[in-house]
Amino acid sequence: MTVTQGNKVVLIGAGAVGTAFAYALLNQGLADHLAIIDLNEDLVWAQVEDLNHAIPFSGQHMNVTVGTYEDCRDAALVVNCAGVAQRDGETRIDLIARNAAIFESINKDVMANGFNGIYVVAANPVDVLTYITQKQTGLPANQVIGSGTVLDTARWRHNLGQFFDIAPSAVHAHIIGEHGDTELPVLSTGSIGGVPLRAMLEAEAKTNPDIYTQMDEMFVRTRDAAYDIIKRKGNTAFGIGNALARITRAILRNEDVVLPVSALLQGEYGLDDLYIGTPTVLNRTGVRNVVELRLDPDELDKFRHSANTLRNVIDRAKF
Ligand code: NAD
Repeated sequence: MTVTQGNKVVLIGAGAVGTAFAYALLNQGLADHLAIIDLNEDLVWAQVEDLNHAIPFSGQHMNVTVGTYEDCRDAALVVNCAGVAQRDGETRIDLIARNAAIFESINKDVMANGFNGIYVVAANPVDVLTYITQKQTGLPANQVIGSGTVLDTARWRHNLGQFFDIAPSAVHAHIIGEHGDTELPVLSTGSIGGVPLRAMLEAEAKTNPDIYTQMDEMFVRTRDAAYDIIKRKGNTAFGIGNALARITRAILRNEDVVLPVSALLQGEYGLDDLYIGTPTVLNRTGVRNVVELRLDPDELDKFRHSANTLRNVIDRAKF
């Protein structure tokens, strides 16, 4: 059980992702105090000023300040969005060496100030950096969480909703695995408005023989969304900003909600000592428990392949 009370949030990284998260947080009134830390002093000062000017219109009370690592002492949550982002054509895994070094110095400073709340990682490659963060901080595994496939799952629900002309809130379907190139959709447990996804596809196939090809294309569009967006505007921000706010709400409001974050596997799916995106119950303690889906054999093979990819990156990272 975490000892930290209250709802103070420390955000590390005032770039595109960090400030989209901050903007979502202030509009949703999820924290009383948001302290933002960034190496770039001008940038963080300007972002804090600009965010504070949005608060009078938000209908919420929140104090946004330029932070220091001392703010971690009484923070309920640290959200780490610092580091380099993908450039056009780079994979998330390409970022590991640069971001692992950045995380080492950040995590020393976070822990030197006695942090004992929930630590949420967003920087990429998120599953590997979450694993590294848990090792570097020594925090209990339930207190260290990555954003995992929460964003990918939102993209998948959006795309499925558009295809079937249904609100994404009625689509229950997960993307799991690495937040990256080896992730996979789980069709076996998906449903739309209570109807199993596979039954919907079988019914659709009677009049639309291309449905399975269309689903494959939809998944590729989901998986590769970041590449397509980064090519055109240089970053992705709004989706992950709201995804991080959703994770924050689940934790600070003690919701016991299920989100596909990156959590430590300890025997689930026959895997151990690895952070990877899988449905997880979140509450004020961070991870309450990992939900082990009943994957079909093909899905389980793909999930294990994704896990092996992450394991190889961790083994090579020598953090
Ligand atoms: P950005 O370059 O806009 O911002 C990064 C910020 O980190 C910069 O302001 C930089 O000054 C700061 N920074 C770098 N080193 C630091 C340090 N040691 N201490 C404090 N601040 C430091 O990048 P971005 O677009 O905001 O992306 C941030 C990260 O989030 C990237 O790794 C990106 O790949 C990742 N990301 C994750 C998801 C997800 O779903 N998890 C989605 C989008 C982006």
